Order: sequence, then structure tokens, then C-alpha cells
Amino acid sequence: MTDVLLSGTDLRKSFGQTPALDGASMTVRRGEIVAVMGPSGSGKSTLLHCLAGIVAPESGSVVYAGQELSAMSDKKRSALRRTEFGLVFQFGQLVPELSCVENVALPLRLSGVARKEAERVAKDWLGRLEVDAAADKRPGEVSGGQGQRVAVARALVAAPKVIFADEPTGALDSLNGEQVMRLLVSTAKETGAAIVLVTHEPRVAAYSDREVVVRDGRTRQVELVQ
Ligand code: ADP
Repeated sequence: MTDVLLSGTDLRKSFGQTPALDGASMTVRRGEIVAVMGPSGSGKSTLLHCLAGIVAPESGSVVYAGQELSAMSDKKRSALRRTEFGLVFQFGQLVPELSCVENVALPLRLSGVARKEAERVAKDWLGRLEVDAAADKRPGEVSGGQGQRVAVARALVAAPKVIFADEPTGALDSLNGEQVMRLLVSTAKETGAAIVLVTHEPRVAAYSDREVVVRDGRTRQVELVQ
């Protein structure tokens, strides 16, 4: 399979006596949306963190675009995360002291883009996520749904190849959740970004192209019926 962009193979990770991953494997192809499903505590977030290079597995390998993550220096892995990956969590984790447009511009600023240009691109992304009105407000002054759309804009602004979304609608009501998912999926499709979508909600997983089910730290691939 030449179009595999990211793969985790036979990943194992424990926290003390608790095994979180017990031989989990999954692949992500370019531009595809993969839902990672399973009950609470099954290892979904740990799997996402390993694939995103945030947590190092005890054994197994994670390969992104032909490169083994564990073989990279910390500096190179951080640079890869900044340029190739975007992250969205259950709570947007926006920087409270910055305005929404400054939050979205942050990944570009960290990559050396000048403030004016970074904020111009950030404003454009806020528009695409239908949340322009939040630009000059701080995260504490916008609604949960608006905040998550700002977080999605921030995840997409640096044109990542993979977006890792961990329960991105978990703190939203169903109407706002649907809106965030619709915009996340449509903007990712437009830019060709893949999404690793951790969720326990079938309604959210319905936006994916494929599902991987995690149970007791092990993965099961679910073939598409379409
Ligand atoms: P899920 O995302 O499916 O809810 P997690 O990957 O968060 O599952 O957790 C899998 C298991 O690992 C759980 O038993 C959880 O308590 C444990 N775990 C996860 N992260 C940590 C951590 N940082 N410290 C201790 N235990 C953890």
C-alpha cells in the first residue's frame, strides 16, 4: 500500500501496572478519515498520542512518511509535529490570554511567519470555520462550539497532513457537535489532510471513511460497508 502515510505497528504501552496498549496497530492513508472507537479506558487516546509522537510506546513502531518516529531526535520530532500534524482535543485548549485570531495564528508564528501575514491567514481560517465574529475575543468570551471551531482552525492553519482529533465534540451539544464535525471534515477534505478521530459516539464516527475498534489495548480493523 503506497498511499499509507502513517502507521503504528504492534504498539505496547503501560502506565505502571496498567496496560494501555497491548499490541495495537493501525494505518492512516493520505486524506482518509479513520475513526478510533471503543469504550472508555480501552486505549484510544494512548494510541492517538503514540501515533502523534506525543507518547513513546515501549515497543512497536510508528512510521510517518517512511520515517520511524523513535529514530528521530526530539527536535526533529517536535518540528514534524508542528509542520505535519494538527491537534484538536475535547476542550479546545486555546491560550486564554490570546485573542482567537492570535490563537489560530500561533502555529504559523512558531514556524517563523511574520505577525501580520500569520493573522491574515488565521482570519481567513476563522472565516472558513464560520467563526469570524470571534476573531478579537478571548477564548473565555466565546461559546463552547465557537471555541472548538477556533481550535479546528488552529489545527488546520499550518496545512498539516494529519489532524489528530480526540473527542472533538465531547463537550458540545449535538447541534454544535454536528457543526464542528461538518466543518472539520469538509475543510480536511478540501486541504487533503487525513484525520485520526477518537470518539465513542457512533454519530461522530459516521463521518469517517473507516473504523478501528480498540478494546483492552488491542485493535480490530472494521472494513467499510459502502
Ligand atoms: P481511552 O482513550 O480509550 O479512554 P486511554 O488511552 O485514555 O483510554 O487509557 C487507557 C488506559 O491507560 C486506562 O486504564 C487509563 O486509566 C490508563 N492511562 C492512560 N493515560 C494514563 C496516564 N497518563 N497515567 C496513568 N494511566 C493512564
